[in-house]
Amino acid sequence: MTRTAIVTGAARGIGAAIATRLAADGMAVAVLDLDESAGKTTVDAIETAGGTALAVGADVADEASVAAAVERVSAELGAPTVLVNNAGILRDNLLFKMTVDDWDAVMNVHLRGAFLMTRAVQQHMVAAKFGRVVNLSSTSALGNRGQANYSAAKAGMQGFTKTLAFELGKFGVTANAIAPGFIETEMTAATAARIGMDFDEFKRAAAAQIPVNRTGTPDDIAHTAAFLASEGAGFVSGQVIYVAGGPKD
Ligand code: NAP
Repeated sequence: MTRTAIVTGAARGIGAAIATRLAADGMAVAVLDLDESAGKTTVDAIETAGGTALAVGADVADEASVAAAVERVSAELGAPTVLVNNAGILRDNLLFKMTVDDWDAVMNVHLRGAFLMTRAVQQHMVAAKFGRVVNLSSTSALGNRGQANYSAAKAGMQGFTKTLAFELGKFGVTANAIAPGFIETEMTAATAARIGMDFDEFKRAAAAQIPVNRTGTPDDIAHTAAFLASEGAGFVSGQVIYVAGGPKD
């Protein structure tokens, strides 16, 4: 049967790679991002490869926007039973310079966003007695200088994931988190720009600290997400998988 998946923040980066991979695996994929038109590139790539996709504009941190998006996906693609909470932002700063807005913006997109999306989608999973929730955490969950807001949010994603696993397991729903290390995307490019470093130089410096001696790509994360979203992964739940080129915790 064709499953319907929603991938948030799927206009680019890791989300785009996950959406493309889930579509290649046979799912109908809702490419959700803040701006519907931004998702069109991912949708075009999926359709060109013979897959099914729909661009949906929504702010994951807004309750009404999430409800409307999930309703639209259900009507146009079918009831969603796979959810990848990937949308994310950075507002890095040292604690003494971090504003309340920096704190709230990060909490709202990552934690409130994952909560609202999962709460809206779980009814479809429970009705289908099947579901796969994949949440994007980060190695920053273990603590990272300049990221008090982001590391707290990404550690929160892990607790949220484990609680979903407990609550939804009996309905055939699994929940797992992926904690990526350094992945080459606009997010890490923006970090390099912020600290005034050339991106290639920034990547080389990061790779030197990674056991497999390279930085990660969005496809590295898409492979792991595809496994966790698959039918065969039904006995894997409540786990945090560090995809970081080496051990982390
Ligand atoms: P990215 O290139 O910045 O892409 C993030 C996407 O999320 C953007 O398309 C962005 O849209 C969208 N988004 C932001 N706020 C949103 C909202 N409120 N509602 C809907 N969509 C929203 O980031 P990435 O590097 O692919 O990261 C994806 C996920 O992996 C994030 O959760 C990130 O924290 C996590 N992660 C990344 C790395 C890494 O090294 N890159 C490492 C660990 C974890 P706009 O462009 O319109 O803002």
